[in-house]
Amino acid sequence: MKTVKALDPATIETFKNQLQGKIMMPSDDEYEETRKVYNAMIDKHPGMFVVCVDVADVIAAVNFGRDNNLLIAVRGGGHNGGGLGLCNDGLVIDLSGLKFVRVDTSDNTVRVGGGNTLHEVDHATHPYGLAIPAGIVSSTGVGGLTLGGGVGYLTRKYGLTIDNLLEADIVLADGSVVTVNNGQNQDLFWAVRGGGGNFGIVTSFKFQAHPVMNIFGGPTLWLIEKTEEIMEWYHDFLHHAPDELNGFIATLIIPGPPFPDHLHNKQFCGIVWCYCGDLEKVKEVFNPILAKNPFFQMVGEMPYPALQSLFDGLMPPGLQWYWKADFYNELGPELRKQHLKFGSNIPTPLSQMHLYPISGAASRIGNEDTPWAYRDSKYAGVIVGIDPDPVNADKITQWSKDYWEAMHPYSSGGAYSNFMMDEGE
Ligand SMILES: Cc1cc2nc3c(=O)[nH]c(=O)nc-3n(C[C@H](O)[C@H](O)[C@H](O)COP(=O)(O)OP(=O)(O)OC[C@H]3O[C@@H](n4cnc5c(N)ncnc54)[C@H](O)[C@@H]3O)c2cc1C
Repeated sequence: MKTVKALDPATIETFKNQLQGKIMMPSDDEYEETRKVYNAMIDKHPGMFVVCVDVADVIAAVNFGRDNNLLIAVRGGGHNGGGLGLCNDGLVIDLSGLKFVRVDTSDNTVRVGGGNTLHEVDHATHPYGLAIPAGIVSSTGVGGLTLGGGVGYLTRKYGLTIDNLLEADIVLADGSVVTVNNGQNQDLFWAVRGGGGNFGIVTSFKFQAHPVMNIFGGPTLWLIEKTEEIMEWYHDFLHHAPDELNGFIATLIIPGPPFPDHLHNKQFCGIVWCYCGDLEKVKEVFNPILAKNPFFQMVGEMPYPALQSLFDGLMPPGLQWYWKADFYNELGPELRKQHLKFGSNIPTPLSQMHLYPISGAASRIGNEDTPWAYRDSKYAGVIVGIDPDPVNADKITQWSKDYWEAMHPYSSGGAYSNFMMDEGE
């Protein structure tokens, strides 16, 4: 592999002239800002960024990288825990200029650019009363989230994000462009539905959207001492509930607003709910939840994008993050004991554990129908140590590792690749 530094300036100049977008080098003023990704633990120094604005830019960048034997990384929303959107000394093909969202109401499909974020998609689809199942923090990139799978509030009703992917346009390593769907290039269509960003650069996604306007949801919190009881009830309750009801369960500390003062810095077992069904039936659905007497609840009717961005303010870019992941089939007594133990010893106010249900529609897809091969697991679990201060990096890393080690014996094998960090390739 060559480094960008070793390239002849004339080669770089020729490349620059082929682009509508721009390149950025370490000598440029904006370079330091550009090399930041969401996770501030990542500190990589690419040799060059190419900010693409159209498919032709992506083709030119792939050809340039390949012809010059450069290491290439592709950046969508830049949220990946391990910083896979960057590389040291090589070429970063940055898709942040490749954004568009086009809603087709004739069949409720949506075309999305390779560099869009979830917020941009929700913003464009909501006025039509439509939504695409995706993740729970709206600054996340559609690219990485989709190619890895995509779990979120609509998973039980409409499946993973990949279960709603109808088509993608992809620039391959030889610079050619292909369309993949159920009729064309089916093997590659299979691969990009959960196999990650390894197969080419997706310049355009086409999704099936669904009628989702207002949902009923939000968080319910119980004091951490109740963790075992609440987890036992939740496991039984949720998996017998209608697909329209989703809720991920967490151990967490309430760090501050939008939660009221009396909750701040207390440890909780919490569930964030999203009911996307008939709002006339809300009482029936939520009565058993409220009968569990949460210490605090903030559930109500709201536009779907409001829930999608409810926690954005707590999770700005630039924090230290350490990620560990596993799938689980159960929430048995031993696991619940470990959740109580580690949930009672959360090292910093933003660190937390989440279990996302993989039941309902997502579980009715076969394990081999896509690379996302743990459809029969009940939960995609993630433990994230988070803190603004790099001084606490070791502390949050150790807590995440210890929590994960304690739970791992009860895992159903595998892990969701989008929730991993330094497990390797
Ligand atoms: C705060 C936060 C909340 C999250 N919440 C959820 C959630 O609710 N549900 C969930 O499923 N995941 C969630 N994730 C995980 C998220 O799915 C992954 O971090 C994902 O990798 C982010 O994609 P990105 O495009 O932002 O990241 P990037 O770092 O830009 O890219 C990630 C990977 O995808 C590749 N890639 C990105 N775009 C393309 C493209 N167009 N073509 C080819 N390859 C591409 C990159 O090369 C890289 O390998 C969350 C992450 C964060 C930080």
